Amino acid sequence: MLPHPTGVLSDLDRVLLDAPSIQSRIAAMAREVAADFDGKVITVIAIMDGGLFFVADLLRAIDLPMRLVTMSASSYHGTTKSSGQVHLPWPASLDLKDQHVLLLDDILDTGLTLGAVQDRLKQEGAATIRTGVLLKKRREHAREVAVDYVGFEIEDEFVVGYGMDYQGRFRNLPCIGILRP
Ligand code: 5GP
Ligand code: MG
Repeated sequence: MLPHPTGVLSDLDRVLLDAPSIQSRIAAMAREVAADFDGKVITVIAIMDGGLFFVADLLRAIDLPMRLVTMSASSYHGTTKSSGQVHLPWPASLDLKDQHVLLLDDILDTGLTLGAVQDRLKQEGAATIRTGVLLKKRREHAREVAVDYVGFEIEDEFVVGYGMDYQGRFRNLPCIGILRP
C-alpha cells in the first residue's frame, strides 16, 4: 500500500527499495566506512544533488572527524539518458593534498561522473580515495571505476526518489522507485 496515493508516490510504477531497507543498508555501509577510515580525518566529497539524502544519512552514522565538501557533477541533463559528457565545476580553494577522501554519489551508471572526479582527486594529491554509491546499475559501464562501497545493485532502469530526480522532481520520495512509462 502506498502511503500517499495522491502525492508524488502515485506517479510510480513500482517501489524498488523502501525506506527501511535503504536505512538499514546505509547503517551497514557506515560501519564499513568507519572501520576503513578508523583513526583518520575524512574529507567527504559529496556529489549533489542526487546524493543529498544518501550522504546526509550515511555521514550521520559515522563517528569519525570529517569535513564535507559538496560538488555538482553530472553526465545527465534533466533527461533519462546519460549525455556522455561530464560537467564538473571544481571548488576554487579546495586543498586535497594528503587528505583521506571518501567520494560519495547516488548512483553508478555509465561510470563517467565518478571516473572524472576520481581522476581529479588523484591529480590533487589525495592520500586515500575510497568511493561509495548507494546504487550501482547492472550494465556495461562506459568506464570501469573502482567502487569500495555499494548499497544495492539494481537492473539498468531509470530510478527516482531518495534524492534522485526526473526533471527536478521526485527527490523527496522516501523510497526509490521506477516511474510509470
Ligand atoms: P554516470 O556518470 O555514472 O553515468 O551517472 C551518474 C549520475 O547520473 C548519477 O550521479 C545520477 O545523478 C545520474 N543518474 C544515473 N542513473 C540515474 C537514474 O536511474 N536516475 C536518476 N534520477 N539519475 C541517474
Ligand atoms: Mg548525480
